[in-house]
Amino acid sequence: MPRTSLGCLFSIAAIAVVATFMGCSSSANPAGPGPTAQPEEAGAPPEPADGGAPDGQADADVPPPCTGTPTECAVLWEQKASDRFDAAVKNPAALAAFAKAVPKGGDLHNHLTGAVYAETYLAWGQADGDCINSTTFSAVFSNQCSASTQPVPASGAFFDQIIGAWSMKGFVPGTALADSGHEHFFNTFGKYGAIAGAHRDDDIADVLKRAADENQVYVETMFNLGKNVGTLAASTWTATPSSMTAADLPAFYDSLIASPTFAAQVNLDAAVVDSAATSYRTILGCAGASAPAACQVGVRFISQVSRTGAADTIFGQLVSAYEMAAKTKHIVGVNLSSPEDDVPSLVNYELHMAMLDFLYAHYTVPNTSPLHVTLHAGELAPKFLPVGHETDNTFHIRRAVEVGHAERIGHGLDILTETEPMALLDDMRTKNVLLEVCLSSNDQILEVSGVNHPLSEYLKKGVPVALATDDQGVSRSSMAGEFAKAAVDQKLTYRQLKTMARNSLEHAFLPGASVWTSVSDATAVAACARTATMGLGDQPNATCKPFLDASERATMQWELERRFLAFESKQ
Ligand SMILES: [Zn+2]
Repeated sequence: MPRTSLGCLFSIAAIAVVATFMGCSSSANPAGPGPTAQPEEAGAPPEPADGGAPDGQADADVPPPCTGTPTECAVLWEQKASDRFDAAVKNPAALAAFAKAVPKGGDLHNHLTGAVYAETYLAWGQADGDCINSTTFSAVFSNQCSASTQPVPASGAFFDQIIGAWSMKGFVPGTALADSGHEHFFNTFGKYGAIAGAHRDDDIADVLKRAADENQVYVETMFNLGKNVGTLAASTWTATPSSMTAADLPAFYDSLIASPTFAAQVNLDAAVVDSAATSYRTILGCAGASAPAACQVGVRFISQVSRTGAADTIFGQLVSAYEMAAKTKHIVGVNLSSPEDDVPSLVNYELHMAMLDFLYAHYTVPNTSPLHVTLHAGELAPKFLPVGHETDNTFHIRRAVEVGHAERIGHGLDILTETEPMALLDDMRTKNVLLEVCLSSNDQILEVSGVNHPLSEYLKKGVPVALATDDQGVSRSSMAGEFAKAAVDQKLTYRQLKTMARNSLEHAFLPGASVWTSVSDATAVAACARTATMGLGDQPNATCKPFLDASERATMQWELERRFLAFESKQ
């Protein structure tokens, strides 16, 4: 059946509200964006690989008929995309193709060294002449090769063993804690850490290439920063770190910033950030005439501070994050990383929140640093809580929001075991705290998935949510994989997933005003409101363009809408 006829039938039969004002003809909408206004680019969706199209055709380049206003056409096309999604959910191959092509906004929870696939690390290690320990599978530099190591293999049984040790590929959990996904997952990082650390800029380039390939527009990636001020803080604090209490923080802070080398150490830390922000572009060739699409993916850095470290070092790294953000726009946030259910993490949880509270008062309230806070919180499950900490899953999220001033929460898995969970969910909605959902990670580390995952509780309460990858290399996942998992495992609809993509940019730690007054119903600000000749994502009109030009966030949001239009108009 010709596409044109189906378009008319569809609009009349399936979307009555659209059909009341939608004209049906075989011509493309002259006022709307149309396919010719949506140039193909590397980040644009490929043709669907499978059916799901009502007519069974791979019709990615054929514009659907629409003679309505741009907004009327957008409504029609969104419904067609939703129908294509519903059909694809029943077909893994079709869903994978759809998930890869659909615009996804930003990945807000991305650990840099966990984001790169093991095969990529091995290729770099092989080029560097590195070696791998024959029994622990840990990488060492070329000058540390020994009788207990082997050169990095390119294939074969040893290669496969390393991939298994460095990721969740083929992992089968045992009954003992030591054989759990929890342990295996967290143990991977140390095994490939030498190669990952030596290739920071390659890591970033790799992440952005994958992001471009999956139609993402933005990534906030986390890696260890602030080491120089962290070291200075450790030398400034003369007592044992474990003796530190919240009451010590004011004097400790005063001592730290009074150090004659404090400013120099901050500058060294900030230089690391600036170096990372420019070096990856050199690797990608962004200055060249044929710069790859990865160069167009927006990126910002988040300082991840290991919560298992010594308290003095942690405090120094947190201070550095605030100081760095005041000096360079490339770092926008701070996060506490490493297993939340590790004993030191649990013992010091309240102290870490007190540190963040102290620094919030010192930097955020007087507006001397633009740094934002996102926290892993509630990444806990009873099965993995150590002895003596069985009730620690009752307060972490609340304390992260109320004391740590977290604007986003990573994981939030234990929300229903928190004290007064419904009130906490209401608080999160009221405070507009976004949940970063990492479905693959939650399944692999804490064995929480399906109906046992609390995502539906967050959605029911109206807490903003965005999908994220956590450690896609370790998980052997991707943003597309998370999208597909959300569709199958969490039964989310196309429009819910679209709202999540919008949420990711709304809650990104980017500068600038939002293009939305309401994300949930896609209501734009007055300057960029829909008109008879401009829909969301169209060429911006004379009132919208200045608004977008003044806001990096809004520019990215508009680009996401442009991509949605391009994607949906081809379904
Ligand atoms: Zn994480």
